[in-house]
Amino acid sequence: MSSIRDRIENWVPRTKVGRLVKEGRITSLEELFAEGYRIVEPEMADVLVKNLQEEVIAIKLVQRQTDAGEKTSFRAVVAVGNEDGVIGLGSGKARHIRVAIDKAALDARKNLTIVRRGCGSWECGCGQPHSLPFKVEGKCGAVRIVLLPGPRGLGLVAGETGKIILRLAGIKDCWVRAYGPTRTVPSYAYAMFDALKKTYEMVVPEDWA
Ligand SMILES: [Zn+2]
Repeated sequence: MSSIRDRIENWVPRTKVGRLVKEGRITSLEELFAEGYRIVEPEMADVLVKNLQEEVIAIKLVQRQTDAGEKTSFRAVVAVGNEDGVIGLGSGKARHIRVAIDKAALDARKNLTIVRRGCGSWECGCGQPHSLPFKVEGKCGAVRIVLLPGPRGLGLVAGETGKIILRLAGIKDCWVRAYGPTRTVPSYAYAMFDALKKTYEMVVPEDWA
C-alpha cells in the first residue's frame, strides 16, 4: 500500500460526501457527524483528522478445513487515533498478515469516533481534559469495560491493550475495570472502543445550553 499522503493526493471520491470532504466543504469530524454523515471512504478520515496513527492491537491465525485441505488466514485488529480526542477501531481478514493489517487499518478509519474528554475526577477538579468527563461503560460479547475518571498524574491504570487505545484517544489518566473473558484481546478492544464512543453519544446537561 502506498503512503497515506500519496493515497490522499490520488484519491478520487466515489461518493457525494467524499467529494464534500475532498473539496473542503466539510472540514472536521464534528461537522461531518453534525450533518448526519458517516465516513464511507477511509481517505476521508485522513483529510478530516490530522496525524492519525496506527497501532496493531491483535493478530490471530485462523485455520479452516476445506475440501482442498487446510486454509490459513489472519485476522487483524488495528486502532487508529490522533492522541487528541479521536479514536477508531477496525478489523480485517486476509491470507497474508500485511494485507490483513492494511484492511483493518482502513476499516478503523471508517469507524472513527470523537472522544469527549474532561476532568471528571472529584479528587482532581482541575477542569483540564486529561481524563474522562464521567464514568462510561462499554461492551463487546461477554466483555464489559468500565472507564473511571482519574486525577492528574495517575496515568493509565489498564492492561497493555487498554493503554494503547487510551493513549491514541488522548486520555492521560483513568482507571479501567474489565469483566468477563478479558484475555480475548479483540473483544476487550471493542468493549473499550464502545465505552469511549459513549462519551460522545451521551448527552450531558451542558449540551442543552
Ligand atoms: Zn483534573
